[in-house]
Amino acid sequence: MQVLILGSGQLARMMALAGAPLNIDVIAYDVTTDRVVHPLTQAYYDLTLGDAIAQVQVITAEFEHIPYDVLDLCAASGKFQPNPEAIKAGGDRRLEKALLDRAGVANAKYQLVASRQDLEQAINHVGLPMVLKSALGGYDGKGQWRLKTAEQADAIWDEMAEFLTATPNQAIVAEEFVPFDREVSLIGARDVEGNVAVYPITENVHVNGVLNLSTAVMGNEAVQQQARDMFAAIANSLNYVGVLAIEFFDVAGNLLVNEIAPRVHNSGHWTQQGADTCQFENHLRAVCGLPLGSTQLIRPTAMINILGEDSLADAVYAQTNCHVHWYGKERRAGRKMGHINVSAESAAHLEQALAIIGRHLDAQAFPALPREMAYAVD
Ligand code: AMP
Repeated sequence: MQVLILGSGQLARMMALAGAPLNIDVIAYDVTTDRVVHPLTQAYYDLTLGDAIAQVQVITAEFEHIPYDVLDLCAASGKFQPNPEAIKAGGDRRLEKALLDRAGVANAKYQLVASRQDLEQAINHVGLPMVLKSALGGYDGKGQWRLKTAEQADAIWDEMAEFLTATPNQAIVAEEFVPFDREVSLIGARDVEGNVAVYPITENVHVNGVLNLSTAVMGNEAVQQQARDMFAAIANSLNYVGVLAIEFFDVAGNLLVNEIAPRVHNSGHWTQQGADTCQFENHLRAVCGLPLGSTQLIRPTAMINILGEDSLADAVYAQTNCHVHWYGKERRAGRKMGHINVSAESAAHLEQALAIIGRHLDAQAFPALPREMAYAVD
């Protein structure tokens, strides 16, 4: 079986690694260079996108910012999963909000803003403080503004107006500021028969809008059930096939959807060491028409993102149950270069292991890591 992935970054790379034992061969399409490449080496294949579409049995995506003509071409082959509507919604906050409303899942109050007048209305309808987000191209907290007081509105509007003119079809979604207690995500998969399997929820720590630390959380049944129900509502409404990630705000035990990612997700990387079947394998299983693998947690696990660093102290590699995953990328400040998965026999031991690793990692590069143990464990 050969699968073409739209996008050739680390997610395609990790799907290729997960597919190999199943005899699933992965090739990737680099949307920027319009080249078909090997997902590990990035070596070019002598194939056009059309050749690759004709050659493979299945087509899927590792990111949502795919030009519509490419997406439509792939969908027309009848080989593309998940539903292209999901990909489009993942790349456009207007479509995403409409999708969440249609699926009947709770999300932050919002209004579209295209003019200074709209902004005034949004201040009344959505309230202050508010978060203003670009509809297109926003990820990792990019293209966002915070409006705290009505006095700031003129200045922020000037900035946004410039931004709106710079990109065709761009828009702004004004969203209520949610005073969340924590951010969690749910990664799950839905197969071609409509069976759904979800992983335990993951607690996520972002710094400057970028994910730093994800920890699989067990024993929070009420929140897990809410997240699962919302996952099923969204996935079923799209007749979704593949892995889908949903990011939530947790406000006193009530979840509001922040955003969806129609693909494997950074906050699900811990499943490589912490779950029976990792998210990358389950995505391939789903889109290739195989039964889903078990999503059960096998041991408490956390993931640390490596941002802008291309080496780690030997002491990190030497830690028990510590797995380093590099993405083979050239170093750039703040760039996602790899991640570290850390497992332990209990949640308390995991906290301890993170604190030990934290002491070997630069506090500026890894700000979300604990360095002191909250309590001692044996
Ligand atoms: P996003 O790109 O929408 O995931 O936003 C990046 C980060 O900004 C989120 O992970 C939150 O920490 C924060 N954020 C986004 N939207 C809101 C909101 N409506 N209220 C509070 N914080 C938010």
